Amino acid sequence: MSFPIDTVVALLQKEVADYQVPVVDLIAAQTRDPFKVLVATILSARTKDEVTAAASRRLFKKADNAEELDQLSVAELEKLVYPVGFFRNKAKYLAALPGVLAEEFGGQVPDVVEELVKLPGVGRKTANLVVAVAFNKPAICVDTHVHRIMNLWGYVETTTPLQTEMALREKLPEQYWITINSLLVAFGQGTCKPRSPHCDRCVLAELCPQIGVKPRKTQSSSGRIGKKSSSRRFISWNVNGLRAALKKGFLDTLHELDADIFALQEIKAMPDQLPDEVKHIPGYHAYFYPARKKGYSGTAVFSRTEPRDVVYGLGKEEFDSEGRVLTLEFADFYFINIYFPNAQHGLKRIDFKQDFNNEVLRYMDRLAKKKSVVLCGDLNVAHKEIDLANPKANVKNPGFSPRERAWMDEVVQAGYVDTFRLFNQEPEQYSWWSYRFNARVKNIGWRIDYFVVDPGSRDRVQGAAIHDDILGSDHCPVSIEFT
Ligand code: SF4
Repeated sequence: MSFPIDTVVALLQKEVADYQVPVVDLIAAQTRDPFKVLVATILSARTKDEVTAAASRRLFKKADNAEELDQLSVAELEKLVYPVGFFRNKAKYLAALPGVLAEEFGGQVPDVVEELVKLPGVGRKTANLVVAVAFNKPAICVDTHVHRIMNLWGYVETTTPLQTEMALREKLPEQYWITINSLLVAFGQGTCKPRSPHCDRCVLAELCPQIGVKPRKTQSSSGRIGKKSSSRRFISWNVNGLRAALKKGFLDTLHELDADIFALQEIKAMPDQLPDEVKHIPGYHAYFYPARKKGYSGTAVFSRTEPRDVVYGLGKEEFDSEGRVLTLEFADFYFINIYFPNAQHGLKRIDFKQDFNNEVLRYMDRLAKKKSVVLCGDLNVAHKEIDLANPKANVKNPGFSPRERAWMDEVVQAGYVDTFRLFNQEPEQYSWWSYRFNARVKNIGWRIDYFVVDPGSRDRVQGAAIHDDILGSDHCPVSIEFT
């Protein structure tokens, strides 16, 4: 049976009407300005829409047109567009853009793909998007969502976005060319996600052959996606500064991940420095444990259920001034959120870290005698070679030194469970990437964020995941499903 593209597009148009409008379309609708659409499109590559929107706003305040853009230095541009992906390269492209526009195109943004691709930082995908969105001319912008979804529908059978573009030019009715990108980007971000698409609530479920798709678990009876009705989702995330994370869409991420408990490390803020919107999130009880020193360390937990008790610290002054351990006691388990110390360059702080680690293990042992223990956080150690990209080069470095790894061995030998490895034995599964050397894009990372449970609670863990598609920090969130 051939794929009913007209029916599918009609269903999708209805479906995505309430979804967030892709940022480039938004800028086109608001400004009707090809220059701004071009700049926003260049910024948007490998960047979340909210980050692109904020960077575009900052940039357009300073440079409303090509002449004003020409006045900004690369350093100024870097500052304005940070933290979009590849911000240094993009700043260079933007700095070169006015010159090329003036020399080759009389200062005007061209409206054909073959000319647009001559501009710095503009590939075929960007060019097609600019033609379609800024000039409303037939062009098919094939980004990762269009390429992926068209193939899983079986509408095309291709291996590269360029092949997909060419196949769609042959096959897709021209009336859909301009809008197909916006439609599938919105749909790909909201429902047909690259990892675990929501087939269980998809309007196309009856029509879609789901070629090569691994759908997420079916919707639970409680109406929440991806969880068994009896399980609770716990998330742990080192946000590397909660105030910075808030500017990068932290609250949207919190709601999207739909966790029962959301634990944060390295909040780097006192509660009085935080806005009410994060101190009083509807539906959550919030607990903050800042370090005494401003802008350093600190933990926080948001919980849907009010705990019976909250314990701040380990009861040892030398550790507790850094706000590293926050424990919530519930009826049937303890939830311990910890930001473990870094052993630091030259392993200068390794003795402090080992003392801390040993104290934590004693603490877990004490609590595990009473009820289940769920410990999460940034443990600041990759346990095994599989847990980092370059083990050989890091054997003497903090986070992978023999003493730190030996402590993890001790934890595991005591029966505690590294929950992620219950479900996933694959390499290249990381939760932290250096901000340098494009490490995240190249996936040169470390798995140093964990959920650990006591030996008796192994069977209560129904799933574990690393959410490496979520940006906003140099770490990504990790999670478990716990019954
Ligand atoms: S049924 Fe699943 S794979 Fe198919 S379009 Fe919907 S979410 Fe995507």
